Amino acid sequence: MARHRAEGSSQTKSLLRGAKGPLVDVITKVDLDRKKAVAVVVAAGALAGAGFAQAATTVGPVERMIMPVAATKNLAAAAMTAPPQQQGPQTIHSVDTGSEARKLLQAEQIQAQFHVSEALRSAEGAYVQRVEAAKVEAARIAAEEEAKRPKVVRPAQGSFTSGFGARWGTSHNGVDIANAIGTPIVAVMDGTVVEAGPASGFGLWVRVQHEDGTITVYGHMNTIDVPQGAKVKSGQQIATIGNRGQSTGPHLHFEVWAAGGQKINPVGWLAERGVSL
Ligand SMILES: [Zn+2]
Repeated sequence: MARHRAEGSSQTKSLLRGAKGPLVDVITKVDLDRKKAVAVVVAAGALAGAGFAQAATTVGPVERMIMPVAATKNLAAAAMTAPPQQQGPQTIHSVDTGSEARKLLQAEQIQAQFHVSEALRSAEGAYVQRVEAAKVEAARIAAEEEAKRPKVVRPAQGSFTSGFGARWGTSHNGVDIANAIGTPIVAVMDGTVVEAGPASGFGLWVRVQHEDGTITVYGHMNTIDVPQGAKVKSGQQIATIGNRGQSTGPHLHFEVWAAGGQKINPVGWLAERGVSL
């Protein structure tokens, strides 16, 4: 009802501003609370006798304003629309069941609290168990995938264009795989990048050392995608095919250096490990 009163108050002020016109005009302007409007207009009329301007500046909420003329019939009707006085907090007090009942209630609350914390503890335990189980399962899947991962792969897709050995009066120390510039070059086995950068004849090269001491060499690449010192996995992209150095078209030049440094035929070395070029 507080909101209604606040509205009534501002409504009253605006009515008072227009109260100099005929009574009937004011009444027709009001749709929301006709009875109150009538009361306001009557009150404004009564106050006008004592000096309207002064009344308008000092007047407050409608209840205060209608007090001087409360005896009039219209104001009595307006009063009927006012909300009945709240019956007081009887209902609230009636649930006061006494101190014994309160103690019982407290005991029940403590009991409920206990059950809630027990349930939380139990849920927490189940959650921890589930998290642990999920970790074990994730580790198992990772191990399974690791076991399935090929240990040796071919260094690039493309056409085998040149083999290992004597070529053009010199020794070709690797094999060539031709493909478009930008084709991925991958590490053939897990290992560590021991060199990545410019090299005479190769343009750029990457050398990867593997666990058994073998070094694989990749040359002529367009881009190098791993830094020196990086650990790489078999099949991981390390560079892209290019046409740098002494090269007659975009291709990968691939060499295998045995642990002792001897350059060996990559075809045989890969075939021994299940990979054909
Ligand atoms: Zn070559």
